[in-house]
Order: sequence, then C-alpha cells, then structure tokens
Amino acid sequence: MADKKKYKDDTKLMHVGIDPDSYHGLMNPPISRGSTYKYPSLAAYEDPDHKYRYGRYTSPMAEHFGEALALLEGGYKALPTPSGMSAITVAFLSFLNAGDHVLVSDALYPPARDFCDRTLPRMGVEVTYFDPLIDEAGLKALLKENTKVIHFEVAGSATYEIPDFDMLVKVAKAHDIVTICDNSWASGILFKPLEHGFDVSVLSCTKYIGGHADIMLGAIIARDEALYRPMKTTHKDLGICVAPEDMALALRGVRTLNLRMKATARSALTVAQWLEGREEVARVFYPGLEADANYATMKQYFKGCNGILSIELVPVNKEAVRVFVEGLDLFPIGSSWGGFESLLQPQHMNETRTAVPWTGEGFVMRLQIGLEDPDDLIADLEQGFAIFNAAR
Ligand SMILES: *Cc1c(COP(=O)(O)O)cnc(C)c1O
Repeated sequence: MADKKKYKDDTKLMHVGIDPDSYHGLMNPPISRGSTYKYPSLAAYEDPDHKYRYGRYTSPMAEHFGEALALLEGGYKALPTPSGMSAITVAFLSFLNAGDHVLVSDALYPPARDFCDRTLPRMGVEVTYFDPLIDEAGLKALLKENTKVIHFEVAGSATYEIPDFDMLVKVAKAHDIVTICDNSWASGILFKPLEHGFDVSVLSCTKYIGGHADIMLGAIIARDEALYRPMKTTHKDLGICVAPEDMALALRGVRTLNLRMKATARSALTVAQWLEGREEVARVFYPGLEADANYATMKQYFKGCNGILSIELVPVNKEAVRVFVEGLDLFPIGSSWGGFESLLQPQHMNETRTAVPWTGEGFVMRLQIGLEDPDDLIADLEQGFAIFNAAR
C-alpha cells in the first residue's frame, strides 16, 4: 500500500496494522502463535538485525500492532506491552539511572504513583510531584541538575487537568529532559503528543483502543530512533512480550476507535450538562464543559473529548453514597474505562494528591459513559439521586 502516513485519521484507522498481500489477500493478519523461528541460514542466525529470532522478541502480530500504533501516534516505532502500566514502567526504566530526579504530574494514575513511590526510590531515583496546571516559573523552580524525565497524563486521572503543553515542551527541550506522556485519555485520536514535540507516548490500549473490556494491553511509542533504542533494549531485558490474540483484538478495536470516541463524547457531554444542573452534585469534572477549568486548553490542543467524567457529590453521610452507588442499574462499580459499557469508580482523592492537596469534602466518583442511550443513563442517575435524597 502507498504511504499510509499521508491519510487522514479515519482512513488511516482502516489500513494500519494490515498487510493482505503477505497473507494470500486475507484482510486481517492471522493469529500466529509461536516461540520458535527456523533461521534460513547460519548467516541469518549470526546477523543481529535478523528480525524473527525468538517469539519473545517479536512476532508478525507485534509488527502489525506496532505499525498501527506508530502511525496513529505519528511516531517512529511502537513497542507492545502486556498492560498500560508496563508501558509506563518500561519507559521510565529506559531513561532513568540511580541518582536521577524525575518530575511527575500530581494527577497521576494511582498505580503509576505507587511505582513512583515504591519502586523508583529503591532504584535510587528521586521523585517530585508537580501541579499539572503549573506555569513556567513554577516548573523551572522544581528542576534540578539531575532532572532527567518529566511524566504526565495528557489529561490528569480523575480530574482531567490539561497541562500547558507548549510550555512543557519548551522547558524540557531547553534542559535536555525526556518527556513521557501518558496519552491513554486521548488514545492516539484526540491528541498526538509526539507531533507536538514530546518524546515518548505511552498508552493503555486496555481502554479505548481495545474498547471492549476484554483485553489488557499497552504500547510505547517513540518520536525517533534515538528514543526508541533504549526502550527496545529495556523491553527486551525485562522479558516483555504480548500474546497475538490480544493484539489482534486491539487491531479490531482500532477500526471503530474514532466512531466510538465521538459517540461516547457526545453522550458524556449530555450527561455532564445534566449533572451540572443537579443540586446533589457539588462539581462536575469534564473538559468539554464550558465551566470546566480545562475547557480552554482542551479547545486549544485536543480534537475533542472522550467519555469519562467525574463528579463530586455534595457532602452527605456515607450511607447515602452507598445507596446511590449500589442503586444504579447501568453503572456497575468497575475499575476501568474506554469499554462499551458505562461504569462507576469511587476515587480516593485525599490519598492520591500531594503537590495540590485535595480540598473537596464530598465523595468523588468517575463515570465512564458507555455506548448506551444517554437518555437511559440520565434516567438511571435520576432514580439513583431519588434514593440518595431519601437517605441523606
Ligand atoms: C488504566 C490506566 C493505565 C494503566 O493501564 P492498564 O492497561 O490497566 O495497565 C495507565 N494510565 C492511565 C491514565 C490509565 O487510566
């Protein structure tokens, strides 16, 4: 096929990660399982650049998946990882040495925060959390001689803060700092960090890319070859590899990524606007709302929003929270997002913020808006609030 890079996203999404001519015309690459490759010759065995050496290092499906993610994110190459979490840890471990310092956004995915608090210090790496809405002077004040990495999510976990990307790129480049962006929120569609000048994009493909709540998968995408090489080495040294079935499911998800994202964003905005008008809700966090603190940066940098929002309830007794959460029919408690189904996840904000201590008094929960009819979702929340009000 001609250079796939030239196409618009909707076209690209239909053609990345496939190569029918290599498979008798079969549109999707077949799932080929295997550990062992037969080398064609001794010379091939002795050639370090011979591609198919052993199942752990790569596989035809890993090549297709990597091509798809690299094209989607506008990067040089992509590495598959068994989860979004391992994409983050491999990226970190590729650029950090004992004695280094790393700046990490305070609005971090909590398990990534655990890695920064528990594992990085054991490796002799010092971590400082920063306010994702920090300005240039504030960021510069946190820099140290040994700051080697800045890590942030393109929209913060649970509260969706969107940093000043132009400023972050400028400061990082001026100080030779590697930037690692968690782009799961935008999932290669709403924002392209590498095209914006950032160095490494990490993705939880478990979320929108898989899109169907049936896989765990991640990816690391490098802006150029110099950034790719150390990550490829760490990936290999840590024995990271992914089964072909999961990558095949992710490639299936890619085809409908933009359609699902648009539909879920439309519903999420409808639900968010409805929630804004409820007296049971103290605050709604959704960058698509004009009243949200991140609305202007969302408009500036992103093509649109996704389907996750959070609410802080007015302060009430725990029993009212419990009957609300357990009384919803279409929002089961679940820890993920990006799938087809709506979900609710309670957030423990006090335990997950230090640079910007949490001051809210009400119970916070994230709502993942699925592909259900938003009228049904709103009706369900409305009956939930009736139970809530009776119990307060
Ligand atoms: C879920 C999530 C991850 C981790 O992805 P897994 O595939 O669950 O390991 C990383 N970053 C963000 C922002 C997430 O929401």
